[in-house]
Amino acid sequence: MNILKIENLTVSIDNKIILKDFNLIIKNGEIHVLMGPNGIGKSTLTKVIMGDPSYKIESGNIYYNDNLINNISVDERSRLGIFLGMQLPTAIEGVTNADFLRTAVSVREKENFKLFEFIKNIDSAVNRLNMNKDMIHRGINQGFSGGERKKNEILQMYILNPTLVMLDEIDSGLDVDSLKIVGESVMEYYKKNNPGMLLITHYQRLLDYIKPTHVHIIKEGKIIKTGDYSLVKEIEKNGFETINTKKINSIGVCAIKEKLKYE
Ligand code: ADP
Ligand code: MG
Repeated sequence: MNILKIENLTVSIDNKIILKDFNLIIKNGEIHVLMGPNGIGKSTLTKVIMGDPSYKIESGNIYYNDNLINNISVDERSRLGIFLGMQLPTAIEGVTNADFLRTAVSVREKENFKLFEFIKNIDSAVNRLNMNKDMIHRGINQGFSGGERKKNEILQMYILNPTLVMLDEIDSGLDVDSLKIVGESVMEYYKKNNPGMLLITHYQRLLDYIKPTHVHIIKEGKIIKTGDYSLVKEIEKNGFETINTKKINSIGVCAIKEKLKYE
């Protein structure tokens, strides 16, 4: 089944088109990595999938489990099982991590919500992520370092138990040890729950832990090239510009092959 299907999506902000006729399909168990230069629209894509109302869908459709979700609110998408680990998680004063997560989980589980189970799950996730225990009872991300905020996003992922996991530059701000913990714990979650995943990263180091099934390069509002893990190596070596040229070349080759068919 397609956990996510994006069809000809065009998105704007402040009357500026960011994504144009964008297409993507993610199935359960697939790990897609989206790479591309800064300011190209990668974070925009994740926020639109999450339902951030600041972005305007000009045309196109977003389906989650084959249901159209274009007009569904952020909190409803979250309840359906869509999760975004943000590139720049903000701090929220006055709401503790524990309160936030307990509310989110109890809304989902209703009368089946078990406080003991919930506390046990949080404890185990906090231990796994090697987080400081008192962080649970602090305001969300309040006084957290960049790396701690990233770990806190993964903590939320563990507790909210999504089936579509999007992680936007989750590796930025992490020291080597924290990167290992985050990479390995995301992989553990993946093996246990088989979600569809969309990762955004600039670096191969995260992919030492999380092995992608698909690698996409985005440029000018759409995916211009899709490949496997070897594409990451190519980008690290040659940058994005040459990849683009190669794409044009490969279109050229296809066009020639097509032409030969009719000659
Ligand atoms: P990426 O994640 O690929 O680096 P973004 O998706 O964050 O890029 O941004 C894509 C473009 O959209 C950039 O030019 C950025 O300045 C613009 N943009 C994103 N969010 C906003 C916003 N809230 N207001 C105005 N412009 C925005
Ligand atoms: Mg970004």
